[in-house]
Amino acid sequence: MYPPSIIARMSTFVTGDIGGTHIRVAAYESDNTTPLTHKRTRSYGKEPGTFDRLVNAIESAWPDNRDVKAISMASPGPLDPETGIVLDTPNIPEWDNFPLTEKLSEHFHVPAYLDNDANLAALGEWKFGAGRDHHDVLYLTISTGIGGGVIIDDRLLHGHHGLAAELGHVTVLADGPVCSCGYRGHLEALAAGPAIVRYVREQLEAGSRSELSNDEDLNAYDVAEAARRGDDLAKSAYERAGRYLGIGVASFLHTLDPSIVIFGGGVSQSGPLLFEPFEASLRAHVFYPRYLENLEITTAALGDDVGLLGALALAQMKETDQ
Ligand SMILES: [Zn+2]
Repeated sequence: MYPPSIIARMSTFVTGDIGGTHIRVAAYESDNTTPLTHKRTRSYGKEPGTFDRLVNAIESAWPDNRDVKAISMASPGPLDPETGIVLDTPNIPEWDNFPLTEKLSEHFHVPAYLDNDANLAALGEWKFGAGRDHHDVLYLTISTGIGGGVIIDDRLLHGHHGLAAELGHVTVLADGPVCSCGYRGHLEALAAGPAIVRYVREQLEAGSRSELSNDEDLNAYDVAEAARRGDDLAKSAYERAGRYLGIGVASFLHTLDPSIVIFGGGVSQSGPLLFEPFEASLRAHVFYPRYLENLEITTAALGDDVGLLGALALAQMKETDQ
């Protein structure tokens, strides 16, 4: 336990991460990454009442005998980090131009901050995880979609509308497969988990031989397992994803020139299956070798609480700015 004089000097923040399936909330003291409290609850985002479920989760994680300085939230975008409005998120249909930070401030009587989950994962990895000691960080999360976050010169990149670093929606194959956003040929449509599965399905329908069958519940992990057992179709699905990931990341290096590329998300756990073809493709598509000198390529160091820790980093930055 800290003596009361030290507690008085510390700032306490409540942070939250609203995911497709779960809402996570935690309280942190200053930059101690071990939470004082931690709460996880189902989000049921497609059903009404998500804001009330969030409020309940925050109330149950609110620390006793501490003055909370601010609430800081990670949410799927698109959103406006400046105004704290969630513009539109497929996971929570009722949050259409939803003024999240205003409503939280009104309820809890403290300032509230908001940024998108991939940006905050990047911020968390930079402040507390794999990107510590770097000034220029490229973060990509690859799971059911591809999200991105960028730190350049020790600043989180937001852009004019707060919409920068939507790296999954960069075109890597003109007229390629349709992306979750409705446009064609985006990186997400070629290298995220569902893209890997879709390719396997298409090839099976075209008559390719494989131990995999076109079951409804086929997923990217099944494909990875089959690839590790030597299944040629499964291996080629990961090779293709890695190749397009290399094309995308080469362009990101040309645009941003980071010193580290950090991969998060479930698909990034697939190891050499994805990363060998990725690195070969990256080398083949980078137009000047100096981009690759001392470039660190690594997987994320923070686990499921990366969004909470990113939101903590955001709250600390806001406090220092003021
Ligand atoms: Zn897209």
